[in-house]
Amino acid sequence: MKRRIALELLLAAPLAYSQDAKVGTSATVPAISTPEGPADYVCPMDLDIRSAKPGVCPRCGMKLVLGIPDRSEYPMELSTRPRVFHPGEKVELAFRILDPKSGQPVQRFEIVHERLFHMFIVSQDLQYFVHDHPALGSDNVFRFDAILPKGGIYRILGDFYPFGATPQLIAKTLIVPLRRGEPVELGPAKLQPSLGSCHAENMDVELITEPPEPISGQKTLLFFKLKPATGLEKYLGAWGHMLAASDDLIDMIHTHPFIADGGQQEQFNLIFPRARTYRVWVQFQRQGVVNTAAFNIPVRELK
Ligand SMILES: [Zn+2]
Ligand SMILES: [Zn+2]
Repeated sequence: MKRRIALELLLAAPLAYSQDAKVGTSATVPAISTPEGPADYVCPMDLDIRSAKPGVCPRCGMKLVLGIPDRSEYPMELSTRPRVFHPGEKVELAFRILDPKSGQPVQRFEIVHERLFHMFIVSQDLQYFVHDHPALGSDNVFRFDAILPKGGIYRILGDFYPFGATPQLIAKTLIVPLRRGEPVELGPAKLQPSLGSCHAENMDVELITEPPEPISGQKTLLFFKLKPATGLEKYLGAWGHMLAASDDLIDMIHTHPFIADGGQQEQFNLIFPRARTYRVWVQFQRQGVVNTAAFNIPVRELK
């Protein structure tokens, strides 16, 4: 009974988000603590996953750690080379992660979902989306060669896990100069609701949400039906990946399925932090091909 109350408290807790730093993590499932002992081991990504024994998180596959890990935020510096660049030109993005205590670059990272650093790039209009993996250099800097298609504001999300800390999700803003005559986009992206079915690379992805009209601050279940459901494979160690971004680029949430088994349906649970329209990208791998499907989900205030 007590555990259930604790779980409900967790479910009611809003996701962390802020203007330029923290972004949300996934929602919750029942803890796996055993009745005979305290749940001392915890998943550093899904802090509601506890166990009395060492092991891996049943949700995200990460190794459980003993005790609650240090939750400090690690600053991420983003620089570009060249410093000034234009749309359509190759630019190197460099990410340097600093230890908040010493101010020195972090030298050791944990692998999460088969990579040391996951990067997402989204454009201000939320039409451009990249999920890729900058490479770690011997100087402890992660680098990635990007070509950004047009001028304007981009949000760049770094997802990494410094050794001995907790997984970090840090968002940065990058401004690309406009081409001559390119219109200035002001204000939030204009997203028309798009739910239902989305054709991706080699499959169709259908989305049904529960409730049908998601409410901010409350849990939404997102059911994705994959067609055809043959040949599905894990991608980066998970059956699916999701990035949700609010139309004003403030909230960015990277999460993984709550329930998935390689079959035709995957369930993600999400708490949309605010009443905005969210663009949600989901990635599934089928027959060696990574599929990216996108949906626009209006979220309303609780009446
Ligand atoms: Zn990744
Ligand atoms: Zn992922």
